[in-house]
Amino acid sequence: MAPVLFLNAHPTYNDMSVGISSLVEHVIRLTQYRDRDRLDSALTEAMMDLLAPLEVTLVGVVSEAGQRYWLPWIRRERGGELQTLSDPLWVQVPQLQRLEDDPHRRHCLESLQPVEISPVAGSTDCLTLVPLFEDAREHGLGVIEIRSAQRLGPAELNMLGRLLSVYRNMQGMLDYSECDALTGLLNRKSFDDAFFKMLRDGSAEPSTPLSAEQVERRHAAAPTYWLAMLDVDHFKQVNDVHGHSIGDEVLLLLARLLKGTLRSLDRVFRFGGEEFVVLLRCPDEAGALSAMERFRGRMADYTFPQVGHITVSVGVTALRAGDSPSAARERADQAVYYAKEHGRNQVHSYEQLIARGVLQIDSKVGGVELF
Ligand code: GH3
Ligand code: MG
Ligand code: MG
Repeated sequence: MAPVLFLNAHPTYNDMSVGISSLVEHVIRLTQYRDRDRLDSALTEAMMDLLAPLEVTLVGVVSEAGQRYWLPWIRRERGGELQTLSDPLWVQVPQLQRLEDDPHRRHCLESLQPVEISPVAGSTDCLTLVPLFEDAREHGLGVIEIRSAQRLGPAELNMLGRLLSVYRNMQGMLDYSECDALTGLLNRKSFDDAFFKMLRDGSAEPSTPLSAEQVERRHAAAPTYWLAMLDVDHFKQVNDVHGHSIGDEVLLLLARLLKGTLRSLDRVFRFGGEEFVVLLRCPDEAGALSAMERFRGRMADYTFPQVGHITVSVGVTALRAGDSPSAARERADQAVYYAKEHGRNQVHSYEQLIARGVLQIDSKVGGVELF
């Protein structure tokens, strides 16, 4: 590694210069990636190397049905390999620890301040909790847990602060390039990458061994992912009657309602003006349809300020092995079109419409790239 070469070449440099050289090395690694998973790994490795603790764990926050849970994500123990602790495809969110069941982590997350537990109950180790972000955000919430034999000193905390500044700046850049400015949802540009990542991860072996029950569930439950396309009904009228800025406000509220209805591990994109796409993880079609039906119902019941009631039409399709983003979207779009033609404010599955014979299979969308 570079710091060692540096030491050999310049034996007179003191510890401070080694520390700085090492920090620079890690900053280079942290700024190398445009991928959140790799950024988290690079941060964990940097903390391990620069602070020499016993263990570092990144713990994320996921939500489902209005409840928030801790999702231990990445861990590195001294002398060990980097471990991915959760397989987000298969994690059973309601079985995770609830936020309120770890008051120290929760305090760290909510106060946005470091928390030190010294010593940890039943051991002589110290635990330092640091919020991953300094601002309250919709996504990416989490805490870093650093277990060490001694309390982290001012120099180590300073080093950690610098690393985190780089990490947070990189996350901010990713937010800027991946998110839609009005709603904060993922933008169209990031869709293809997310689509292929889901297809790849869905068929890939997880990095940590699975229990027999998990393996069975994996085999029993294909396909794993569903794509839903949503189009607001008669949205042009909203703009025509109330003006464009009220229209924008409706889109913002709709985005919040949609995110609030789905699981935080589901991916929600604003695709065009009033079109949204969701990639959702669900073992079967009934689950995917009921999630979207729940949103359709909440949307129809919601009273938008000044505008009143607005509805959406939704098309759902299963992702297939070898699928392409445009083919999957086209299938879902056909189901949306069917909903529009049959009264709007409805959710339809492409596969069910095909099975019922009301839609014909178009060979162009059966998994073949259109463009
Ligand atoms: P349908 O039920 O058939 O979908 O009818 P619609 O009026 O929603 O469909 P159409 O596609 O004809 O109109 C979509 C409208 O969405 C057109 C445009 O005025 C509006 N729109 C597109 N992007 C934005 C945006 O960013 N903000 C606002 N306020 N309106 C937008
Ligand atoms: Mg439209
Ligand atoms: Mg529309």
